[in-house]
Amino acid sequence: MNNQTQIMTLCASCAKIYYSMPDQRIRRADRTQHIKERCEICQTHLGYDYAVTEVQKKDRRAGK
Ligand SMILES: [Zn+2]
Repeated sequence: MNNQTQIMTLCASCAKIYYSMPDQRIRRADRTQHIKERCEICQTHLGYDYAVTEVQKKDRRAGK
């Protein structure tokens, strides 16, 4: 099993969206990072690098 992890630059509000997603794991890529970069999602605010991992669900139920 290898989940795909990508490094993304996210501002606080866009990071919050990922935090709320049940199928995405998000954590700071570099906790010592102090210089903010432009957010990849909104291209407006500044934020830090995050490691975003897609979580594979154990039981997949298609439809209802
Ligand atoms: Zn953003």
